[in-house]
Amino acid sequence: MPTLWLDEIGADDLSRVGGKAASLGELTAAGLPVPSAFVVTADTYRSFIEETEIDEELFEVVDVDSDDSAALAEAAERAQELILETEAPPSVKEDLLAAYDEMGDADVAVRSSATAEDLPDASFAGQQDTYLNVSRADLLRRVKECWASLFTQRAIYYRNEQGFDDAAVDIAVVVQQMVDAEKSGVMFTSHPSTGAPTAILEAAWGLGEAVVSGAVSPDNYVVDRESEEIEEVTVADKKVMCVRGEDGETVERSVPEEKRNERVLSPEEIHRLIDVGELVEDHYDTPQDVEWAIFEDEVYLLQSRPITTIDEAVEGEEADAATASADEGGEASGVADGGAMQSQTDDVRLTGIGSSPGKVTGEVRIVSKLDNLDKVEEGDIIVTEMTTPDMVPAMKRAAGIVTDQGGMTSHAAIVSRELGVPAVVGADDASDRLRDGQIVTIDGDMGTVEQGTEIAETEESTETDANAGAEQPAAAEPSQQHSPVKPMTGTEVKVNVSIPEAAERAAATGADGVGLLRIEHMILSTNKTPARYVEDHGERAYVDEIVEGVRSVAEAFYPRPVRVRTLDAPSDEFRQLQGGEDEPSEHNPMLGYRGIRRSLDRPGEFKLELRAFERLYELGYDNVELMLPLVTDAEDVLRAKALMQEVGIDPEKRDWGVMVETPASALCIEELCEAGLDFVSFGTNDLTQYTLAVDRNNGNVAGRFDELHPAVLDLMGKVIGTCREYDVATSICGQAASKPEMVQFLVDEGVTSISANIDAVRDVQHEVKRVEQRLLLESVR
Ligand code: PEP
Ligand code: MG
Repeated sequence: MPTLWLDEIGADDLSRVGGKAASLGELTAAGLPVPSAFVVTADTYRSFIEETEIDEELFEVVDVDSDDSAALAEAAERAQELILETEAPPSVKEDLLAAYDEMGDADVAVRSSATAEDLPDASFAGQQDTYLNVSRADLLRRVKECWASLFTQRAIYYRNEQGFDDAAVDIAVVVQQMVDAEKSGVMFTSHPSTGAPTAILEAAWGLGEAVVSGAVSPDNYVVDRESEEIEEVTVADKKVMCVRGEDGETVERSVPEEKRNERVLSPEEIHRLIDVGELVEDHYDTPQDVEWAIFEDEVYLLQSRPITTIDEAVEGEEADAATASADEGGEASGVADGGAMQSQTDDVRLTGIGSSPGKVTGEVRIVSKLDNLDKVEEGDIIVTEMTTPDMVPAMKRAAGIVTDQGGMTSHAAIVSRELGVPAVVGADDASDRLRDGQIVTIDGDMGTVEQGTEIAETEESTETDANAGAEQPAAAEPSQQHSPVKPMTGTEVKVNVSIPEAAERAAATGADGVGLLRIEHMILSTNKTPARYVEDHGERAYVDEIVEGVRSVAEAFYPRPVRVRTLDAPSDEFRQLQGGEDEPSEHNPMLGYRGIRRSLDRPGEFKLELRAFERLYELGYDNVELMLPLVTDAEDVLRAKALMQEVGIDPEKRDWGVMVETPASALCIEELCEAGLDFVSFGTNDLTQYTLAVDRNNGNVAGRFDELHPAVLDLMGKVIGTCREYDVATSICGQAASKPEMVQFLVDEGVTSISANIDAVRDVQHEVKRVEQRLLLESVR
């Protein structure tokens, strides 16, 4: 039988259908509404290579010295070519299309399902391919691509190294109906901190991506499962939704005006969802975090995993139950993820810098720059040398991130904090020492990566965040240790944003505005340098790219101010993009061609950025402020001001200012104030590196990177004093803003505002309030 439906899968079929399909079959058998799917069994792959007689050549080709990288690359290429270019026997094609037609003529998701359970997952490394929105015409090709993924360089290398026989490895493929959801969301079947039978549901219009990515604030429903009473209903203003576009891809749209504030779930739908939640919870014998969808009045279970945030002290026996459930689960991928916990033998413990808080357990996905990022699935832990902007979609899906390189202000650290994904950076040789498929627990506070699951341990985060909890139930939100009421402070507390996708989540912190919106990500994520982008798409498109990115943040915060910084990416980051060959190759990019220096040297490109500001003002976003990075002295500022005027920005009418990031700018503060600016903001990441001569990205001197060093504080104190004389506002937007000692110092000195990372905003608000109260007390005593 070349294909098997989920309800035909029995306990004996594991070796024919693989772990992913088996776990789907198990949930279907338990009566759960998993979207329908059939499995192209491992026998089909086997008969394909045998009947077409490519098997012998295939296994001969991959029998190479795996240390010879050229030979390995050639072997992988030839093996994949053999599979992809060999016509499948007519019977395989017919069976496949017949099963597809039986499911209904709609696009499907195609994913590989590893068999050979006795081999570690790494023997399949590279086979985690998932193809979404596959049409009938593309089905066979996608199935063959899943088969071919058995022969990536890494998979061949691993099998050869471990002495596994390539000829003995099989692969199955799951073909599953895609649910074109009208409504979707997540559900905690029990309270995520206490484990009490209180279900919490979040719901929004359209496909689940909008909820999971945090692009929309969903409705929230709290239900006492024992009395079946709906205790709380919070209807959110749902501005955006994800829908299937014309070519089948997922696109974001505005929610029609009349539905924005309409309640998504009826009481009857809530109870149906809770029935499903109870079934999954019973099946795994532990509370679950479930992704669901509703289409044509049918409820679907898209994914389920154990809740890992339940406080052990409250729910004493939770740990055993969770682990037991997890052990049943099979792979951490596919529609239903049982948790994928497995015991490991050789202990690994790595340390790095805890750069985004929270503790999480998941399956390692080693990712290199050239990898297909689709292999990173919901709940995986990305392990990589260093993240890049094009990894962001995968970072959103990941449960955690570990990098070999980088510090608290690296790309990985900044983006993971904004996404609310726990991260450990600078963990040296993590990508060498960890293996694909291995289960690890990372602690983004302590900066540790340990083998195996520590699911039983007390997690920091206890409640779901309306925007973030859905995606990362295990990610701690330290701010929630405080009361949910925002403290009133005289000093403004703002938030930093680097990726527009984090706008809603950042706005929900109650921050007084955005103290730093970096636009680098908007440019770098196009994968083209500004010059190449303009060459390929024209100036207008480049301006639009910036306008759109900034607009989503300015809109989410309106009328609160959003301080947008002009481009400041070092040349080494540009060099990795298309067009990067035309960028300078610099010995020390941190001291080189970046920030205002680059902008003044390329006035044509810079003026396009300024035109984007002008357009935003025209569109009515008068809350947008303009900030110039890495200035040295007043000359930089005056030249930039002239360019602003050239594109029609009136510096007298608009709020604009500079970052104080170089010792020179701190020492020249009087002249800067006289240039007419409205504010300055301390970029302590750079100010510290330049004052102390400690490269912020160099792990060898990371121990010397101290933003609280007296030399740095001295410069800052003097700048605040001078700015007060000139009535120029002062702020901080470097990483140090999250440190209580820095907050104390700045409030004491009379800073106007403090801009912190999303995860630190609430803590900073409380710290500011505490210091202000102390100052008040001191003044009256
Ligand atoms: C800084 O230098 O402190 C800063 C906020 O800018 P960036 O980290 O983007 O250089
Ligand atoms: Mg800086």
